[in-house]
Amino acid sequence: MKNVKRTLFAGALALLSLPVMADAAHPKIGFSIDDLRLERWSRDRDYFVAAAEKMDAKVFVQSADANEQKQISQIENLISRGVDVIVIVPFNATVLTNAVAEAKKAGIKVVSYDRLILNADIDAYISFDNEKVGEMQASGVLHAAPKGNYFLLGGAPTDNNAKVLREGQMKVLQPAIDKGDIKIVGQQWVKEWNPTEALSIVENALTRNDNKIDGIVASNDATAGGAIQALAAQQLAGKVPISGQDADLAAVKRVIAGTQTMTVYKPLKLIASEAAKLSVQLARNEKPVYSSQYDNGSKKVDTILLTPTPLTKDNIDLLEQDGFYTKAQIAGQ
Ligand code: BGC
Repeated sequence: MKNVKRTLFAGALALLSLPVMADAAHPKIGFSIDDLRLERWSRDRDYFVAAAEKMDAKVFVQSADANEQKQISQIENLISRGVDVIVIVPFNATVLTNAVAEAKKAGIKVVSYDRLILNADIDAYISFDNEKVGEMQASGVLHAAPKGNYFLLGGAPTDNNAKVLREGQMKVLQPAIDKGDIKIVGQQWVKEWNPTEALSIVENALTRNDNKIDGIVASNDATAGGAIQALAAQQLAGKVPISGQDADLAAVKRVIAGTQTMTVYKPLKLIASEAAKLSVQLARNEKPVYSSQYDNGSKKVDTILLTPTPLTKDNIDLLEQDGFYTKAQIAGQ
């Protein structure tokens, strides 16, 4: 009896001292998304989950509903569930240093998805080339309005992409500014990329400039939508060239109708499936193939940057060819 007890005790001790072995064949991935209420992020989720499940991984998805505290506690929750990898679309790029450190301490790999997490020990970053997206946005507007007054409608100040997009935009605009062809009459960041906020910013800009705005460089489709409402109220929709990105369905319809000059197509299935592959490789301790490195303030992060495509009325058919939308969706009311 004594012997049996002793053996049981030793067994329990051995179990306790064993590290919790990850099951490499069936990795567990946490996906913490800033805000699933937005069109693009729910598509990212669906493609990601489908791709991960094909590789025998299980995905736990959380939406922070644009709330940084909520995102931090959701990440903590994923850590305590014992996932192997956490993939994060940060709401606020600068507040996740501690949450990431906790994950790393627990042996969890961390991947920054689409938006870079700053000042944190993340393992990898995957996104589209945001500087190129910014260049495409500015080129699209500049092509349609080579001279005049410009307004720059930036993205969320908490999103590192907003800053990188602006760098790309300025690369294209600066020579035209230097030549005296265009003049920046105003610029503002749009909190949380919110369309209603964009609408009121552009309303005010129009009032301040006596409606004399000849081009708007908007950083995504959601904010372009708000800006175009403000233009429409002044009978200016379709007269003032304006950019976007994401190929949101509403924006695609506006490009066809001529009220939005261009958008940028970023195939979400590609980023989501590449991110799923990357996560599974990290969980299995395999070596992913990276295309570059990106400094996030605390380290040079291994990075995969995918290629975006500018879309105007002339090549918008690409979306249908690529299976991003059906003909019926694009034609629908
Ligand atoms: C993404 C854009 C998106 C925006 C708002 C950015 O970080 O790159 O595709 O439109 O966030 O969600």
